[in-house]
Amino acid sequence: MTERSHSPLPNIPKSPFPKVVIIGAGFAGLKLARNLNKKKLQVVLLDKNNYHQFQPLFYQVATAGLEPSAISFPLRKIFHHSKNVIFRMAEVESLDTDQKRLFTDSGYLDYDYLVLAMGADTNYFGAKNIEFFASPMKTVSEALYIRNKIISNYEKAINIEKQENRRALMNVVIVGGGPTGVELAGAMAELRNNVLPKDYPELSFKNM
Ligand SMILES: Cc1cc2nc3c(=O)[nH]c(=O)nc-3n(C[C@H](O)[C@H](O)[C@H](O)COP(=O)(O)OP(=O)(O)OC[C@H]3O[C@@H](n4cnc5c(N)ncnc54)[C@H](O)[C@@H]3O)c2cc1C
Repeated sequence: MTERSHSPLPNIPKSPFPKVVIIGAGFAGLKLARNLNKKKLQVVLLDKNNYHQFQPLFYQVATAGLEPSAISFPLRKIFHHSKNVIFRMAEVESLDTDQKRLFTDSGYLDYDYLVLAMGADTNYFGAKNIEFFASPMKTVSEALYIRNKIISNYEKAINIEKQENRRALMNVVIVGGGPTGVELAGAMAELRNNVLPKDYPELSFKNM
């Protein structure tokens, strides 16, 4: 727990209404906060980022089809006209359910009702090698990391003389063949067929 967790989260207005604290402004937390707009409740929406991320299009950011700003939406703007929904960027670190108090990296906050909507993180199912070597794709910055990694691998590959030594840099392995893996594979195939050969005409893409 950080030092700041020991003082209250500042500038939360006093309200005669019960306080609902929602942790997480993903699909679930955001929808709930919007539904509680104009209700006789004080709603405090907390997220570690000040923007909502539209996860279904991460694959487009990872393959340079969209810019991160196209799938990231500022949370403050969504609640510009709300009188009872307050947004705070803060990372929740722990809870004391007896005291009805939560602790964030910017201070503590008391609640009457608490909603946990923190989503999920990438599950490696205990495969330590995959966890160590792979790049997850659960945030905009992780999607951007994948994009940069692929491009920088090609920049390195073009400086390598022998084709067999370039292979490890030019191949992409996607672990997980659900909708996300399939979409990502399709977008990678489009890059391979239409974009990368134009950017790197000296490289052979037959083996990618
Ligand atoms: C690549 C990808 C593609 C997907 N495609 C689809 C699709 O096509 N269709 C579909 O229906 N679903 C899709 N999903 C699933 C869908 O995005 C999730 O089911 C949905 O986002 C879950 O919503 P949520 O609100 O529970 O969590 P999330 O949307 O993950 O939101 C959780 C929020 O909590 C915040 N948070 C987490 N921990 C803390 C903390 N300690 N303190 C403060 N804030 C915190 C995070 O910053 C985040 O904003 C996809 C998911 C991924 C990763």
